[in-house]
Amino acid sequence: MAKKTTISVIKCDVGSLAGHHVVPKPILDIGEKRLKEAQKSGIINNYYVFNAGDDLELLMVHGRGEDNPEIHKLAWDTFSEATKKATSLKLYAAGMDLLKTAFSGTVRGMGPGAAEMEIEERQSDPIVVFAADKASGGAFNYPLFRIFADPSNTAGLVIDPAMAGGFKFEVLDVKENKKVVVKCPEEMYELIALIGSPDRYTVSRVWRAKDNLICASSSTTRLSLIAGKYVGKDDPACIVRAQHGLPAVGEILAPFMHSYFVEGWMRGSHWGPLMPVGLKNSRCTAFDGPPRMVGLGFQVANGEIAHGDDGTPLISDLFDDPAFDLARRESVDQAVTLRRMGEFEPARLSTEVMEYTTIDKVLEKLKDRFKPA
Ligand SMILES: [Mg+2]
Repeated sequence: MAKKTTISVIKCDVGSLAGHHVVPKPILDIGEKRLKEAQKSGIINNYYVFNAGDDLELLMVHGRGEDNPEIHKLAWDTFSEATKKATSLKLYAAGMDLLKTAFSGTVRGMGPGAAEMEIEERQSDPIVVFAADKASGGAFNYPLFRIFADPSNTAGLVIDPAMAGGFKFEVLDVKENKKVVVKCPEEMYELIALIGSPDRYTVSRVWRAKDNLICASSSTTRLSLIAGKYVGKDDPACIVRAQHGLPAVGEILAPFMHSYFVEGWMRGSHWGPLMPVGLKNSRCTAFDGPPRMVGLGFQVANGEIAHGDDGTPLISDLFDDPAFDLARRESVDQAVTLRRMGEFEPARLSTEVMEYTTIDKVLEKLKDRFKPA
């Protein structure tokens, strides 16, 4: 058996500076300290700590496989310590995403989100990690469709014989907790029929059809459905593998040359135009947004993120680039248009989605005043 490498991105909103805005340095420092210890003790091979808005993101590379209890416990313990710090600083919504008090072997269903991918390393394995804030679990549906199924986005679908067999999408029905695998190009229309409703159907995995090579994995948890009430935005992460018979990094980034709409934004209750940003702008401001996405590129090499001689991982901050200025401009323009509509749909999410928010409590007092019409 060839040796396998696992990439894990586990994230949590443990508390934020000045509202739901940004992860402050003392919290990032706890992530850094905990993962450094874990690297020394050999639990993980190396790591990178960053933030997507108010979400603390732990990117870890190791050899323990997906859903490994030690890796998930490491993340859980890190978030717990970070929550203590957040509480002592009276940061906003400290521990918001930690829905349970005791760890039970996995972070899944406990609040934090996890995107994980176990791979057999190819000769060279470029990886892109995306992480969004103020966005729901279906936020990757549109770009993953463009990247792996749309020949007008990904030239390789037309030009590269290695991609000729297409790609398979695993789609999760978050309401019924069921999943289905749909193959493109043959079932492209069916795929769109499902994932065009990102509040219900989310793409959780993508494989190359001809050999089942894993090429994308996203975190798909819907916090509101776990808790049965509104507890925060899902703010998903996604791992995408690139090049050599897979979409090129440039094809993976091409969908983000324009903004597109995601559910989330203020109070998890509004459509918002996604803004791809570099890490320096990974913070949500106007109306708690607009929803932001960061994208990090790196190479996996011999079980680690490829790093310099001093051990510093080589990370490329992909959206920190003028090539995405237009998308950012569009995001601002569209944000202004939507906000002009206030609390009228389609600026606000549909009634069905709003059921999981606090709006029910507001309407409760009118209940008895409704008469037959
Ligand atoms: Mg968040």
